[in-house]
Amino acid sequence: MKIVDPEVEIIHEENPLRRIELCGRVCYKSERKITDDSANTFVKKLVERGHTSVLEHARVIVPEYSVKPLLMKANSRGNYLPYGADYRNHWVLGRCPGYDYYALNCRDFCAIGATLEELETLKNADDYMTVRFTCDRAIANELVRHRVFSFSQESTRYVNYEKRELAFVRPIPFEWAELSVDKSELSDCMADPRFQAWVLGCEQAEANYLHLIREGCHPQEARIVLPLSVKTELIMTGTFPQWSEMLKLRLHHSAHPQMRYLMQMLIAKEDFPSSGIQLPGKEEK
Ligand SMILES: Cc1cc2nc3c(=O)[nH]c(=O)nc-3n(C[C@H](O)[C@H](O)[C@H](O)COP(=O)(O)OP(=O)(O)OC[C@H]3O[C@@H](n4cnc5c(N)ncnc54)[C@H](O)[C@@H]3O)c2cc1C
Repeated sequence: MKIVDPEVEIIHEENPLRRIELCGRVCYKSERKITDDSANTFVKKLVERGHTSVLEHARVIVPEYSVKPLLMKANSRGNYLPYGADYRNHWVLGRCPGYDYYALNCRDFCAIGATLEELETLKNADDYMTVRFTCDRAIANELVRHRVFSFSQESTRYVNYEKRELAFVRPIPFEWAELSVDKSELSDCMADPRFQAWVLGCEQAEANYLHLIREGCHPQEARIVLPLSVKTELIMTGTFPQWSEMLKLRLHHSAHPQMRYLMQMLIAKEDFPSSGIQLPGKEEK
């Protein structure tokens, strides 16, 4: 059994298709398959399967004159705005010398008729952020409640943890887990009965999972015995105003301690876009 600490990584890939591939492969834990020219095929497959939510992780700048004809065509088919666009208010109209432009995500742009080839030529928008959180399932469940964001998550349906070691997230900042710093020396940490109970619970769950797999269950069946502490990877994308609102809630003292810890890790990152995202003042925390 493996114990890991929570982690936060801000994704900076600027090429839309490569960014979508990077985010999408988290679901299948197949990042090893990324090559210089694998993105186009991967994104095509996502579209064929209808797994287009992954396309929301790339947000691009499109001149208004390119969007208008597509919108008119879509409207003439009785489509109006692509599903979700008005509800999430994801489209932002901006201005730059010579023309107006939209910042919108690739799913919306494809929904009105853009092709993958067109996506490749577009500039990455600079008003949004994508983060990879490594956290436990309970915290991930809280994160996905923020409906205006876009998400992709490691799948317990597709990933077989018999082939890949199961990992559990150390529940810091709980004091009893915080003290148990040296993960390689589990026996030292066992001194604390609360940590001991947690480790035993995870070990038992892992044994039950592996037993079900060996008895012929598929991962999507065996996963039912896994606890909330199971490690997951969650990719979360939102515009700066959306992150500002979310952080107000999740840095607040009433938020869950593990959630606050994760958000504090995020805002402490050197590459956190502090000029774009507004952080709550002291009185709001
Ligand atoms: C301290 C704390 C405790 C919590 N406890 C619980 C709990 O016990 N049980 C529980 O179920 N949840 C709980 N939550 C989750 C909470 O109810 C929200 O689901 C979560 O915080 C996301 O907030 P949101 O809806 O504002 O965000 P989003 O879903 O991202 O929405 C952002 C904004 O978009 C608008 N919006 C989005 N969707 C709609 C819609 N369908 N209709 C109208 N407006 C919309 C709203 O203005 C909203 O503020 C808790 C959250 C916190 C911070």
